[in-house]
Amino acid sequence: MATIKINHERCKGCGLCGNACPNKCISLSKQFNKIGYHWAFIEKEDDCIACGFCYLTCPDFCIEVYK
Ligand code: SF4
Ligand code: SF4
Repeated sequence: MATIKINHERCKGCGLCGNACPNKCISLSKQFNKIGYHWAFIEKEDDCIACGFCYLTCPDFCIEVYK
């Protein structure tokens, strides 16, 4: 099984990871984190193929990918 881990508190909600995901697994939360941004989370974990595009795209190094 593949999955990712996102550091919610560091995420700036830019949405680049969600745009980069070929399977559209990532969404932005409606809630705010401590620094005032809608944080990204993996909504469709079963569709993650561990391609690493989200990890490579995040400018703030918030994402880890696991196989
Ligand atoms: S590893 Fe690939 S499939 Fe999984 S969430 Fe990131 S971009 Fe999407
Ligand atoms: S690319 Fe990084 S900073 Fe931007 S929404 Fe995704 S996890 Fe957050």
